Amino acid sequence: MNFERINEKLSILADAAKYDVSCSSSGSNRKNKNKGLGDASGMGICHSYTEDGRCVSLLKILLTNVCIYDCAYCVTRKSNDIKRAAFTVQEVVDLTINFYRRNYIEGLFLSSGIFKDANTTMERLVAVAKKLRLEQNFNGYIHLKSIPGATDELMKEAGLYADRLSVNLELPTVEGLKLLAPDKNRQDMINPMTFVKNEIILYQDEKRRFKKSPKFAPGGQSTQMIIGATPETDLQIIHTANDFYKDFNLKRVYYSGYIPVSQDARLPSLQSQVPMLRENRLYQADWLMRFYGFRADEILDVKKPFLELDVDPKLGWALRNLDFFPLNIQTADFHAILRIPGVGVKSAWKIVEGRKFTKLNLQHLQKMGVAVNRAQHFISFANSFIKTNLLQQHNLKDIILGTVKSKYQTHYSAQLSLF
Ligand code: SF4
Repeated sequence: MNFERINEKLSILADAAKYDVSCSSSGSNRKNKNKGLGDASGMGICHSYTEDGRCVSLLKILLTNVCIYDCAYCVTRKSNDIKRAAFTVQEVVDLTINFYRRNYIEGLFLSSGIFKDANTTMERLVAVAKKLRLEQNFNGYIHLKSIPGATDELMKEAGLYADRLSVNLELPTVEGLKLLAPDKNRQDMINPMTFVKNEIILYQDEKRRFKKSPKFAPGGQSTQMIIGATPETDLQIIHTANDFYKDFNLKRVYYSGYIPVSQDARLPSLQSQVPMLRENRLYQADWLMRFYGFRADEILDVKKPFLELDVDPKLGWALRNLDFFPLNIQTADFHAILRIPGVGVKSAWKIVEGRKFTKLNLQHLQKMGVAVNRAQHFISFANSFIKTNLLQQHNLKDIILGTVKSKYQTHYSAQLSLF
């Protein structure tokens, strides 16, 4: 093995892969069998993140950064004058095994530029996963990018060897795609997603009936959208995400703030980087839809198509819907409790369980992990004065953000300091 050349390829292809944010815990539970290497069980894999929030615990590389397409937002586009490189299938297999043995990684995230056509590229990606599983008995986590336009047969093989598959949607709307990636079309992305969704259901059903039948993409499928390269609003973005969650049973939608890569009249200027905060707010909105029972049209509407940057979307919703509050913590329904700012899913369950045995107060909530500095404004307790007073403060948002003091603050500090 020529180590210098491999090193060079690694630095080029790992650097090119950093723009893809769609890797994270899988929920997959592939076990170590036959004294093989690794496992991807239970908790999924562990991750650490670089400063800019990219996942680094997987070996995250491109098979090649040679690409026949010219997507304007992409550093790998064919018209970009950059150094190109390509791994062989065996090189990726060897790197994965060597890094795994050294404890550098827990799995592989493999994507690729489209170097000849969709099928040839997908074939190589599948070959890596197949070799790792069958020849190296590797049971660690594998996330493969699915290449839009690849055949169902290849997608089927991919699902049998990989834990997770993902097709990047690239841009939130078809119009955005036409503008910046005119060679691509949404249907080529939807076809593999549909196939994977159906196969997952089929194999899960088989598994219920025949214990020994294989798993198909046990970590499910995910996708990624680039935010801020095209002028879509947050409203459009969360509606797209919502539709794809529903239609394709996606495990995750990832939002990747556009990083300026070229001077192109179709793109925002090189100076206008998407604030990380916008990305965070989209993740929070996404979380609300998946775990807190919010509908996309409750989070944003046409009159207010962008998420506020100064408050998270749940607090924003609560401030716009004060009529919904205060909620009596002793009697409110679980789904209503989930809507209280400062209450997470776990603490909502604790509240429902805890109130069976006692009358809850602020201190109980604090111990349950509730962010009481926020929640206190939206709840009421039996015999409490909170019910009528806190919500009526005209500058509630500023009080919660801590820019002004509440006239009731001393009272609460005193209550909490008793414990
Ligand atoms: S097909 Fe993928 S790798 Fe190629 S230019 Fe478009 S986004 Fe980049």
